[in-house]
Amino acid sequence: MSVKHSLIVPCYNEEGNVENFLKETKQAMMSYTDSYEIIFVNDGSKDGTPKKLREIFSENKDMNIKVINFSRNFGKEAAMYAGFTQAKGEYITIIDADLQQDPKYAVEMAKILDSDPDCDMVAAYQSERKEGKLISLCKSKFYGLISKMSGIDFVSDASDFRTMRRCVADTIVALPEYHRFSKGIFSWVGYNTVSIPYEVRERESGETKWNFKKLLAYAFEGIIAYTDKPLKFPLYLGLVMLAVSVVLGFINLFDYFYQVSTTVLFVGGLILISQGIIGAYLGKVHTQVKDRPIFIAKEILTYEDNQEPHN
Ligand code: UDP
Ligand code: MG
Repeated sequence: MSVKHSLIVPCYNEEGNVENFLKETKQAMMSYTDSYEIIFVNDGSKDGTPKKLREIFSENKDMNIKVINFSRNFGKEAAMYAGFTQAKGEYITIIDADLQQDPKYAVEMAKILDSDPDCDMVAAYQSERKEGKLISLCKSKFYGLISKMSGIDFVSDASDFRTMRRCVADTIVALPEYHRFSKGIFSWVGYNTVSIPYEVRERESGETKWNFKKLLAYAFEGIIAYTDKPLKFPLYLGLVMLAVSVVLGFINLFDYFYQVSTTVLFVGGLILISQGIIGAYLGKVHTQVKDRPIFIAKEILTYEDNQEPHN
């Protein structure tokens, strides 16, 4: 028995949102299909989210609801991946639990897939960014830079909020990388993608999990995962340094002490930078080689244990 549409909902500390999310999703899906499942992935929440999800699961036995409880917080990327491994739908949507992404767009995206057989994925982008100008500028510069460096087209406004056909989801699940950077993965896998604008709503309850430090770490993750160009950086820098030092050597030929101390400092700094770059890549290789799972689910509650999917 198949399901038409799966919705994957990563949840980290969303106790105040999951009930409303379910209500609004039910409402939105009513106009589209009865054959859908909702996969809540509780990413090691520290608040009452697991309790709320358990209640939702047991009080809605007439719906196709799954709850995956992680053993700890693994991050949204891992939560999405876990959702993909469980999704049975012909179409699969990733949507946040905080209702910033209105479920009505999931229906809009599914309808586009229905009407256009050549379209494999519909991605929703924020029509108007509700974040600070500086963050917005940094993001667009970063995506421009990483696109150039990696040769893959990263779209600055694109979000994880998207609906795809089964074949796309299967391809994504088959990518075994541990350090997942979904914006890169969605571009890298290819497929025909149509973009639609969506109006981002205010968070219903709780607060965003992002801050500047986390965004910076995420950007770093993206660069390391999608380009090896920084590894060549020390080589070019080294060549330039060599040329500069030869020139300086001739100019300051007689100012020996000044020359030695600044050169030692400068070259020492460059060597450390180079080692740091190599170390960052090596660290990622190290985690991947250990072959640890992307997530650990301590419990999966699923409608499939007691019933066939509702249609
Ligand atoms: N999320 C998650 N694990 C995390 C952080 C966030 O599953 O470690 C979920 C969160 O519950 C929400 C979605 O990812 O459903 C987006 O997070 P958030 O709303 O904090 O991001 P923003 O909308 O501010 O970009
Ligand atoms: Mg949010």
